[in-house]
Amino acid sequence: MRGFDFVAPSTVQGALKAARGKKTKFIAGGTNFLPDLRHIHDGGPELVIDLMRIKTLKGIAASKSGVRLGALATVTDLLEDKIIGREAPILQAMALKFAGPIIRNRATVAGNLIDGGPAADIVPPLLALKASVKLVSPKGRRTVALDKFLTGYRRTAIKPGELISEVSFPLPGKNHKWGYYKLARRNAMAITVVGAAVVLQMKGNVCEDAGISLGSVTPAPIRCYEAEEILKGNEITLEIAQQAAKACAAVASPIDDIRASAEYRKLMCETLPRRLICQAVGISLDPS
Ligand SMILES: Cc1cc2nc3c(=O)[nH]c(=O)nc-3n(C[C@H](O)[C@H](O)[C@H](O)COP(=O)(O)OP(=O)(O)OC[C@H]3O[C@@H](n4cnc5c(N)ncnc54)[C@H](O)[C@@H]3O)c2cc1C
Repeated sequence: MRGFDFVAPSTVQGALKAARGKKTKFIAGGTNFLPDLRHIHDGGPELVIDLMRIKTLKGIAASKSGVRLGALATVTDLLEDKIIGREAPILQAMALKFAGPIIRNRATVAGNLIDGGPAADIVPPLLALKASVKLVSPKGRRTVALDKFLTGYRRTAIKPGELISEVSFPLPGKNHKWGYYKLARRNAMAITVVGAAVVLQMKGNVCEDAGISLGSVTPAPIRCYEAEEILKGNEITLEIAQQAAKACAAVASPIDDIRASAEYRKLMCETLPRRLICQAVGISLDPS
């Protein structure tokens, strides 16, 4: 790999201007970018643009319409932020299982979305929260639903010269119930074997809306639309939870690897959603 120039602008406009006409790479926390440097075979970037000095890309805020995560919000920010604790605790459950404290302090939300890999842990809870990604480029701004942003194995809808400015999701509301599980070989610094996230909007015992997603069992994390439809408009019983869980497993296409067999992963794609749905609404998993 050849050497590269490095700039650290303090505005989004400065970053976009620097990127124009050059083979560039943005860097945020660097926790993927730096290890990936060892595997570059095409000469690598001419210019690396550090985003970490851009204050407008930081911070977490809530309004009546939803929660906004700045692109540079770190996993530690998610863990410590009061708005997230109040409005979307599912993100804190995820953050507690993400890497270890040193990586959490650097790893950003945008960096995880661009990773686009099956085991990108921030993605499943954001999919269940029905998040959208805001992109900026010299041509303007656009917003893409997160499930449309992920287009395949380590592929996203981002275009050359664009950067993520923020990720937002509608306020889940007081009556929402949630569940998250990262199945892995150990509790910290582990790659996810199966990840599952559930967000349910409840009115009494009836589920008015549902977001369900899986990680590590398809080329990129996915929303389980059919499972969501099974729950929507229904009182949640063990039978309904079971039907939804089966629909989750039906869309999973896991692989065998050193961490787990495809067969075990497929089984967990049913077990975890069923357990999370039942626990979220407080019904017994015991059919008797
Ligand atoms: C030891 C270790 C443990 C890890 N554990 C986990 C784990 O448990 N779970 C998990 O999901 N991941 C894990 N990771 C992977 C990594 O930490 C995450 O994917 C992280 O969120 C990446 O964010 P970053 O800010 O470090 O991205 P960077 O490395 O800075 O960037 C990654 C990519 O995103 C692009 N990018 C960054 N920000 C923007 C932006 N705003 N707009 C456009 N492009 C952008 C960069 O150009 C680059 O291509 C781990 C990594 C290490 C080294």
